[in-house]
Amino acid sequence: MKFCSTRGGESGKSFSDVIIKGYAEDGGLYVPEEIPSISEETLAKWKTMSYPDLCAAILDLFDSDRLLGSIEQSRERFRNCYANFNHPEVLKVVEFPGDGTMIAELFHGPTLAFKDLALFGVAMIADELLKRRQRKCLAVVATSGDTGSSAARAVATMENGSIIVLFPKNFITKTQERQMTTISSENVHIVEGEGNSDELDVVLKDLTRDENLQQTHNIAIFNSINVARIVLQIPYFFYSYFRVIESKETGLDHAVTFVLPTGGGGNLAGGVFAKAMGLPIRFVICNNSNAAMHNIIQTSTLSKSADAADVQKTLACAMDIKVPYNLERVFYVLSKKDTKSVKEVMELFEAAENSFVATDEVILQTMKRCWVKNREIICPHTATAVAFYHHLLDNRVDFQQQFGSIVCVATASPAKFPEAVEKAKIDAKVSHPVIEALDNLPELNKTLMKRDENWLEFMKKFISKHNL
Ligand SMILES: *Cc1c(COP(=O)(O)O)cnc(C)c1O
Repeated sequence: MKFCSTRGGESGKSFSDVIIKGYAEDGGLYVPEEIPSISEETLAKWKTMSYPDLCAAILDLFDSDRLLGSIEQSRERFRNCYANFNHPEVLKVVEFPGDGTMIAELFHGPTLAFKDLALFGVAMIADELLKRRQRKCLAVVATSGDTGSSAARAVATMENGSIIVLFPKNFITKTQERQMTTISSENVHIVEGEGNSDELDVVLKDLTRDENLQQTHNIAIFNSINVARIVLQIPYFFYSYFRVIESKETGLDHAVTFVLPTGGGGNLAGGVFAKAMGLPIRFVICNNSNAAMHNIIQTSTLSKSADAADVQKTLACAMDIKVPYNLERVFYVLSKKDTKSVKEVMELFEAAENSFVATDEVILQTMKRCWVKNREIICPHTATAVAFYHHLLDNRVDFQQQFGSIVCVATASPAKFPEAVEKAKIDAKVSHPVIEALDNLPELNKTLMKRDENWLEFMKKFISKHNL
């Protein structure tokens, strides 16, 4: 399998060439040149696989360099990689009692968010590549929430990598911040920036475009610009799909709609690849009130008015994004790799997918309703998806025809968002051993990057000062 840029400027790259990269040199995003199509026979085989084994099978289609070795070795590596997750199956699909709400719980990783699923795998694969090449890398991540702690924890497992996490001051929860600032690993560095996550993304992009820095430090990008992350976000759509059809006792042709809490669209990009590989799935894209993807779908214009500076702070803060950069990959796939005709892509996109917006008020109502009706507590991101399901129920929409079975994706554990749980007036305390353990850990040094500083210079100095 070869990889190319969505903008056509690069092609014929191997998985090893692109795995630690962010943007392609022409400013596009890397994508596989072909999308493997999965036979029904293979699907039937995959249906009975454990999650780690499924990851090995899917990685094998994209990594012609076989960085993890033979398929048996690769399975073993993935089993180890996911061994410290908080659920023996790695992820699971549950049905809430009462109203048939189905939830794909993707948040059983060490930082309790879905990003662990791909990031721990990417760190493992990247480490293997660096070992072979006898190189080190420096990962830089700007985060609006969960990417930071997940990437930091994942990179902490690497022998050949270190990481700087940039997080937007006041845009993430206390728990999310503590999940990063309490990591005691010499290769993990945390920087707090006075800006929002789209603004931090800009300095990140500038850093990676700096030839000098790139050469000397081997800069790695592990946010969802990274194509290896998207590849490792494919398996959970297959795995969840299989669990849904099992519980519905239907066959491999049964349509399933994934209702996705969406920010940058990385999750969606993984799903769109799974769909293009032949999985009969559809999507409903759920936004918080920043409504980036929703606005694009509804108006089919990539609005320039989406000024990075006016991102609203919401309860579902990991989705506080106005520029959902993974759209480019989504367009690429949906346009059948037509890199030119944006209009056509827009029309395809518009026709193919549905979208929904949940304001903070709706998020809180939805959390409360799940507690009252189902005795379940969900996180504010997950609530954007469940709100859509409630919307269908309340309007008595006969959704079988349009959506098949509906599964809402739970992207984070509610235990990460006690503030929102309290705001939703849920009369129970959420807790998780992973979060409770944070209380006993000292907060390690984090560095402040002020608004009036030259951020690129700041980052360069930081890198040389810490000898990264
Ligand atoms: C990152 C994140 C999202 C958004 O995912 P994208 O891939 O950026 O669309 C949603 N919920 C949670 C909890 C997240 O951490």
